[in-house]
Amino acid sequence: LSGCRRWPEENLVPQTSDPEGRIPGLPEVYATTMELSGVGVGLLAVSYDGRPIKIEGNPMHPFSRVTERYGSADAFAQASVLELYDPDRSRGVYVREASQYRSSNLSALRETFANSLGNGAGVVVLSEGSGGPSAADMRQRFAAKFPKAKWFEYEPISPDNERVATKQVFGQALRPVLKLDHADVVVSLDADLLGAHPAHTRYAADWSKRRKSADQGQMNRVYVAESAFTITGAAADSRLPVRPSRLPGIATALAAKLGVTGIRPVGTLTADEQKFVDAAAADLKSAGAKGAVAAGSHVAPDVQAVALASNSALGAIGQSMMLLPVIDADRPTHAQGIRLVAEQLKSGQVKTLIVIGGNPAYDAPADLEMAKLIGQAKNSVHLSGYRNETSLATQWHVPRAHFLEAWGDTRAYDGTVSIAQPLIEPLFGGISTIEFLALLSGDQVTAGADIVRRAIEPLLPDADKDVAFRRALHDGLIANSATAAVVPMANAVAVKAPVEAQGWEVRFHADPSVYDGRFANNGWLQETPDPLSKLVWDNAALFSKQDAQVLGISSGDMIALTVGERSLDIVTFILPGQPVGVIGLPLGYGRAAAGNVGTGVGFDTYRLRSSAKLFEASGAMVKKLGRTYPLSTTQNHDILDRVGIQGMAERVGEKGGSGAIVRQTTLSEYRKNPRAAHPHGYHNVNLQLFDPPSKFNDPHAWGMAVDMSTCIGCNACVVA
Ligand code: SF4
Repeated sequence: LSGCRRWPEENLVPQTSDPEGRIPGLPEVYATTMELSGVGVGLLAVSYDGRPIKIEGNPMHPFSRVTERYGSADAFAQASVLELYDPDRSRGVYVREASQYRSSNLSALRETFANSLGNGAGVVVLSEGSGGPSAADMRQRFAAKFPKAKWFEYEPISPDNERVATKQVFGQALRPVLKLDHADVVVSLDADLLGAHPAHTRYAADWSKRRKSADQGQMNRVYVAESAFTITGAAADSRLPVRPSRLPGIATALAAKLGVTGIRPVGTLTADEQKFVDAAAADLKSAGAKGAVAAGSHVAPDVQAVALASNSALGAIGQSMMLLPVIDADRPTHAQGIRLVAEQLKSGQVKTLIVIGGNPAYDAPADLEMAKLIGQAKNSVHLSGYRNETSLATQWHVPRAHFLEAWGDTRAYDGTVSIAQPLIEPLFGGISTIEFLALLSGDQVTAGADIVRRAIEPLLPDADKDVAFRRALHDGLIANSATAAVVPMANAVAVKAPVEAQGWEVRFHADPSVYDGRFANNGWLQETPDPLSKLVWDNAALFSKQDAQVLGISSGDMIALTVGERSLDIVTFILPGQPVGVIGLPLGYGRAAAGNVGTGVGFDTYRLRSSAKLFEASGAMVKKLGRTYPLSTTQNHDILDRVGIQGMAERVGEKGGSGAIVRQTTLSEYRKNPRAAHPHGYHNVNLQLFDPPSKFNDPHAWGMAVDMSTCIGCNACVVA
């Protein structure tokens, strides 16, 4: 019997001296940075007893600061701590031999590649977007060592149409940065400024400042014409859901009304579009330099060029919109890059393929058949945090360290150099991108800390570089390192008349939970409801209510969706607010090798995406399949019965009216009577988080008060 067992008696010696400078149980906070699609965000990582457990925004960072004490971090940054401890992360170097993978090591990899890279002839590097000084420095060193090697970048959610547009208008590749705290009137043409935009945390903080200012009569006004339902559209004062093919007409009509030289409206507007354009143009004209027109970075370069020319005509360049020169202005766009890599693989020119991060076997345009082509490369390696679809197509796989485990640096959206320092040793033995490049190049400097120091030293301001370096590590950034804005003259812009789109239009977009698919194995993000559809653990083809009636479909019906030559069986979801005639297709699901959490979740909409049309396509066909698929949505969570439905009606109120919780009024009514939105008088809060004050010493309870005038539904607090 176990109760009769006698364990041997042993004397144990406790450790009585703590590591110097550390008090067990007290949190330590370090500044760091996380990069997403080549753009860094400034963060603080909170560590308990050597383990990072929480992420916050860095209030010292100009692109994360909300107040002197608080910074903002989005849902992806908040969820990054779960990824750090994900047991599905890659745990070692693997090499394929006779179609089987076996465990290997970095020395074997170095030997193999040292012999095969030569002068770089036949070597192709396909990298995810990266913008930090160390990565740029290592890339230069790699190019110096292997001068004939070719380097391309690819991001599936690419903003590169922006480069094409700025070259067209200003003669150079520039990054437009909005000053939403300055702008009185903002017109968005399919730009999800508060959601999917790389600068969304800065924009949301600036935007909210102008929504809190109703009492001073300085509230901004936001117009959004969009081909997908976004949180920016949901927060807009005036929203126009449109087909993607309508944007050139709307942009040119707006520009013509603003008096942009040489722009003539293309096509004819509908009554709703005309009303939108008239109102937006009138407000923009009166705002002048305090107005801004923002086009989505995925939108066709022609349309973006018209928006930029409109800002120029308003005098907004240098006021509501800054233009920053981009550092790698001459690289091929992501769309060109992935096509060139595919062509070279197909022609057999590639002896060695080096894939840094990303997952092109999964997320490259379907017509390129990248998974097959990568598998054909004679020699290939993939550096990645997970053994994903691309790792399973390459010959070698090398585990990449998490950003909380490695030295590194990034550039924020405004160019500010931000620094990442490791809070913990790599849990699964990974190496960083810069260490990987040092290893392949045979660089004498191999430690991440030394590579970062070497790259950023010329950027440090003080004569005493040691002091300046420590300061930069403490702050998480190099002060005043943002890119200086320019105010170039605009060239005349020519816009081709759009071809009238036929049939259903589809619109591909990043998913708020899994982005482009890279966060598919993050259970916190999968569990977080989509801000608008409230779907969890799935994506779906999104239809407007009107289109669903025409097709005779309901949420949960399976359809065969055909775009060009490719077809996908996918579930449907009816989303009020979805533009009529447009099928929304969130990317990033249907992964085949995400991990235990994300593999097989949802539908792989990349299979419908072609290299010619990365973000929208027309002429799609829909066929009902006569079967259903269960979707989970939290929209009506807890509203199970008649009592629940009545309760919701009381809280939300009639359409266009106010309920007990959701209250609305106009700004002019509010100015006359600040109680105008309270038709039922004060709301009597019966339920308290705390017991009566006498019991305040009992265990804590927490609550969160949300200002519904400024909440945009970004989900950061939900994940936090
Ligand atoms: S309260 Fe609203 S805006 Fe703030 S973090 Fe939460 S969802 Fe985002």
